[in-house]
Amino acid sequence: MSNPYLLLTPGPLSTTSSVKEAMLKDWCTWDDDYKQIVQSIRSKLLQVGQVSEAHYTTVFMQGSGTFGVEAAIGTAVPADGKLLILVNGAYGTRMQDIAKVLGIRSETLVFAFNQKLDVEQVNEALERDDEITHVAFVHCETSTGILNPIDKLMKVIKRHRKIAIVDAMSSFGGIPIAVEDLGIDYVISSANKCIQGVPGFSFILCRISELAKCEGRARSLSLDVYDQWRVMDSEPGKWRFTSPTHVVRAFHQALIELEQEGGVEKRHERYVLHQLALVSLMEKAGFATLLPKSLQSPIITTFKYPLHSEFTFESFYRFLKEKGFVIYPGKLSEEHVFRIGTIGDISMEKMIELGKAVSAYVTDIMGGQ
Ligand SMILES: *Cc1c(COP(=O)(O)O)cnc(C)c1O
Repeated sequence: MSNPYLLLTPGPLSTTSSVKEAMLKDWCTWDDDYKQIVQSIRSKLLQVGQVSEAHYTTVFMQGSGTFGVEAAIGTAVPADGKLLILVNGAYGTRMQDIAKVLGIRSETLVFAFNQKLDVEQVNEALERDDEITHVAFVHCETSTGILNPIDKLMKVIKRHRKIAIVDAMSSFGGIPIAVEDLGIDYVISSANKCIQGVPGFSFILCRISELAKCEGRARSLSLDVYDQWRVMDSEPGKWRFTSPTHVVRAFHQALIELEQEGGVEKRHERYVLHQLALVSLMEKAGFATLLPKSLQSPIITTFKYPLHSEFTFESFYRFLKEKGFVIYPGKLSEEHVFRIGTIGDISMEKMIELGKAVSAYVTDIMGGQ
């Protein structure tokens, strides 16, 4: 089973063949063996998040990552609550959209896409408005690749005793996050990012004492984290509605492979090496990154279009695809950029091959720049 190309995208991403092979059987959704697998995944994810079983629980939600974010926000914030949303990119904006659609009272602090979420301004906003009950932000803004200062943000949020909802979609499993030590109440990620599974569900690590207060709060029947939790705990491992059984099997295999790799720290090291190699090969070919290195995550990197009349994203994309690599368009309306991800089942050999392909494009199409 060979892939037509390597995905250098932030999910779905390239998975191992053993992860894909785990999907080659039909699995019953309420059978005991299956439910045991679900329970084992729930508990392994608590380890990945460095939290204790006594204080945290894992709840799954069918659908892509956004379903998990919408479910968490819609379940956590009560009718008389108010949500402060911190935005420095498209996924922060999406949380703002979610609050609007769900009719949740909210306030937004917007920062430039090339600026970290500013802790001082968050502090001021929380001092200014004591009606705020919850704060939501994105850890790694995948739209640019910027890494927000989760430690400092959580210190301020906890000092003000607010409930924290963190979209760690593209970082969980790829960057160590000590969820309990940091005091995060809800952290959301999905099957097809750094755990390296296939798409189909999201998961939310929840502080049990907070989730226990959420009965009847959800603005949606399906996206109710509290109800899903009650069912998953009372009939251990059962999902309320049809679960993505094949995806769950693949995810279980992906978690085993994360352990075999040496856990999150080792995976993080691999991603960091790939990202450094990527920037070096791209700079060698004349491309420049959008962000300074100090703001950059190891997950995905944004590059500016070179100032050359022969360069178009379309031709670059097609050229690389033919050589076996798929990259990602930009997600910023105000900048001409594209993105390359460094997460998934990729290796340093592949990065070297990518370097050759990029150089070939520069020589063949751009005439050597
Ligand atoms: C991938 C991602 C999401 C979810 O996107 P989906 O397309 O719904 O899976 C949300 N937030 C961040 C930061 C992401 O990287």
